[in-house]
Amino acid sequence: MSFTLHGLSVSDGIAIGNALLMSHATLEVSHLTVGPRMVEKEIARFDQAVAAVRQELAAIREATESAPAELSAFIDIHAMFLEDPELIEKPRDIIRTRRCNAEWALVQQMEQLVGQFEAFDDPYLRERKYDVRQVVERVIKELLGHPGRAVMKAGKGLKEEMLIVVAHDLSPADVISFKEHRFASFITDVGGATSHTAILARSLAIPAVVGLAHARALIRDGETLIVDGLRGVVIVDPDERVLEEYRLRKNQIELEASKLKRLKDARSQTIDGIDVNLYANIELPVDIPEALEGGAEGVGLFRTEFLFLDRGDMPDEQEQFEAYKKVVKGMGGRPVTIRTFDLGNDKDLHPDADFHDRVKTNPALGRRAIRLSLAEPQMFQTQLRAILRASRFGPVKLLIPMLAHAHEIDQTLSALEQAKASLASEKIAFDERIEVGGMIEIPAAALAIGLFLRRLDFLSIGTNDLIQYALAIDRSDEQVASLYDPLHPAVLMLLAHTITSAEKAGVPVSVCGEMAGDPKLTRLFLGMGLRTFSMHPSQILKVKNRVLKADVSELAPAVRRMLRLEEPGKLQEALEKLNA
Ligand code: PEP
Ligand code: MG
Repeated sequence: MSFTLHGLSVSDGIAIGNALLMSHATLEVSHLTVGPRMVEKEIARFDQAVAAVRQELAAIREATESAPAELSAFIDIHAMFLEDPELIEKPRDIIRTRRCNAEWALVQQMEQLVGQFEAFDDPYLRERKYDVRQVVERVIKELLGHPGRAVMKAGKGLKEEMLIVVAHDLSPADVISFKEHRFASFITDVGGATSHTAILARSLAIPAVVGLAHARALIRDGETLIVDGLRGVVIVDPDERVLEEYRLRKNQIELEASKLKRLKDARSQTIDGIDVNLYANIELPVDIPEALEGGAEGVGLFRTEFLFLDRGDMPDEQEQFEAYKKVVKGMGGRPVTIRTFDLGNDKDLHPDADFHDRVKTNPALGRRAIRLSLAEPQMFQTQLRAILRASRFGPVKLLIPMLAHAHEIDQTLSALEQAKASLASEKIAFDERIEVGGMIEIPAAALAIGLFLRRLDFLSIGTNDLIQYALAIDRSDEQVASLYDPLHPAVLMLLAHTITSAEKAGVPVSVCGEMAGDPKLTRLFLGMGLRTFSMHPSQILKVKNRVLKADVSELAPAVRRMLRLEEPGKLQEALEKLNA
């Protein structure tokens, strides 16, 4: 039976494929990389889980003394497997050598053993594969007592490009692991449109819909789905007529995308000759090829915390340096803006993260981003040194997230001086004149902009958080998603005030929140005076297309008039007129 689910669009485009349900159930485990310093901890976690299951089996055995012999034999076999080095020693080796999380190491070894049992001619021995699975399931259940992440079901013969992942929720770490796959799309029950999961969905450039409420419960594995990322709609088990219509629309979208590709090398300039910089937001070095393909003139925001999210330890200075250097070199002389860690519980820290317990509950308002960096001076020095070292390989700028206070900037600048001095004393080269910019994403910063203009070399407006804090809307909560309004007059006032003030002070300003990548808002921003946009690579050519057709001399007065409006209906109307 066909039915439709409505959610929030986070990444447009259309996908047609088969549902792949993800869950937290036993053998469907997440694949995480364990940092070198966490390996022993992960092995200990594995050993503890095995010991707990041994105890559990012994207790069952005791309780079933008088039970039928078959049942006792069954328990004995499980207990025996739990003594077998193939199942107990091998996963430890896998954790150590391949740096897998315990669950994943165990499942890999289990698959190996199951394969061996399947090869037996003897039907009795062949059947033992079920025992192996069951015993492994017990250990994994024990391991998952420490919360597991969303997990992937085994492949089912379908190509990844045909699969639409259906999950209750996905953590940013899960989505990062998607970068190794090529799914057609993903949909979730929870999540807001600018949650970090949604942002990553955009960076994967696959259609996605979040906040569907009951998708996981209503959709069955393998069912045909249409994901309409533009409208935020999922059609389950569509009939042939609907499928045909969507196939046509999908082709059309693909055709438009291939036409846009021709703009890649076009100079990004308005009709009246104003140059506009279009930069890419990236999360990992692997995003570079897509940024270049999209015609990015540089990286406007490198969210470095994603180097860390799917593991429990901090990358050390050398590892960070390598990652930053890769990006700087990969961008071949184009500017790269590296943001220091924007870490905190809003990004779903790994439960084993070094400072997990020191980050308190309210994630968005808590010890996050620069607050955490300043509270962890050693971690901050490590990152600053790594960024400075990378600055020798191309133009690098340093960007500080979540600033609200002048003293935070002052402390950051002195931390930077300290990092510079330590490198200089070790005779390590770096760019001594590295520019330092601040994210304007707390309304207080936008309102007291003078504090920032006087201290910093450039500004970057983070609209995702700016809207969240201005409207008191949790950006990751789908229940209030309808109130998350980028066109709220207060948001527009904060944006216009920041852009105009920076322009007057001669301080470069960009927008790097999701609003920058929305082509419907390009003309509005140009009219406000914005000349630098940073967005997901997939959006750059769409925005460039708008830039090429814009005439700022006409837009500026129209936007000034628009900014005097307050009524939502009137603002919407004015935006439509601006885009007509
Ligand atoms: C923002 O807040 O707009 C931003 C770009 O940063 P993040 O989405 O990583 O919080
Ligand atoms: Mg932010």
